[in-house]
Amino acid sequence: MVAATYVKDIDASRAFYELLGFAEVSAGRAETSAWTYMQLGGLFVLLASTTPPLEIPRLPLLFYFFYADLDAVVAVLQAAGVQLTRTGHPPHALGGEVKVLDPDGNTVLLGQRERSASQASAAGDEGLLQFSLLKEAAAVVAARGGTSRACQVPGSNGGSCPRRADVKLADSLGDMAWVCLVHAEEILVTVPTAFIASQGDRGIAAFIATR
Ligand SMILES: [Zn+2]
Repeated sequence: MVAATYVKDIDASRAFYELLGFAEVSAGRAETSAWTYMQLGGLFVLLASTTPPLEIPRLPLLFYFFYADLDAVVAVLQAAGVQLTRTGHPPHALGGEVKVLDPDGNTVLLGQRERSASQASAAGDEGLLQFSLLKEAAAVVAARGGTSRACQVPGSNGGSCPRRADVKLADSLGDMAWVCLVHAEEILVTVPTAFIASQGDRGIAAFIATR
């Protein structure tokens, strides 16, 4: 599989992916477009740009890359002056996770699946909410007035979860649920088809309405 994405500035984006460890395999340029095909081990990304650039909204998650040595790539990014945010040690990235923005403002997450022997124990991480994208989604809901809904996940005692809902999750079957952050994190980790439902107004209905 080759992951392809459009970028505004092909040169700035090539430089960014080189910091992440990718190297250009081939490239091309025409009057109104340019592309670069880049490789990191068994991963391939195709970056393409058009003139004029496509209007693409900033994405809350563009790519998630796993590294065997996250600290090494973090050191390269920091030396280049790239701002990064450590988002803790979530269950899918026990060796750590950092968030960076690509040159177009899209979020790219970098993780290390397992804690390495040289890494200090992250005791105290347990119980903390470290899925920063969830917290960002919840902040968007809150900024739009919040919701008075209760979390729709049943509690362990058969009653309902006592917490208020923070985010809306959806899955590829079309089901949706308003849930609290604790249950949202559990669902995203255990339900492969679940995703955070955007609260934007540019949905499929808006697309169909313009046809
Ligand atoms: Zn809940």
